[in-house]
Amino acid sequence: MIPIDYSTGFVIYIFIWMLTLAFLWIREEWREKEHEWEREKDILSFCDNCHYAFLAKYNENITRCPRCNGMVIIRKRRSGI
Ligand SMILES: [Zn+2]
Repeated sequence: MIPIDYSTGFVIYIFIWMLTLAFLWIREEWREKEHEWEREKDILSFCDNCHYAFLAKYNENITRCPRCNGMVIIRKRRSGI
């Protein structure tokens, strides 16, 4: 067996713990990016004819209602939501 004194053994012990913590930290950061919440780009729209609520694309001004196929003018709020 390789003879090591207490201070060298302590440094190796701390080094192994730091490597373990770094590995767990990097893994947690990676997992957080994988399951990150994203704000929905689509906006909630309401049909004036049948009062059906649906999601419309953000960059559209006019779309069709999925239920009654009527034209719906999308009103955007100033806050950008
Ligand atoms: Zn409708």
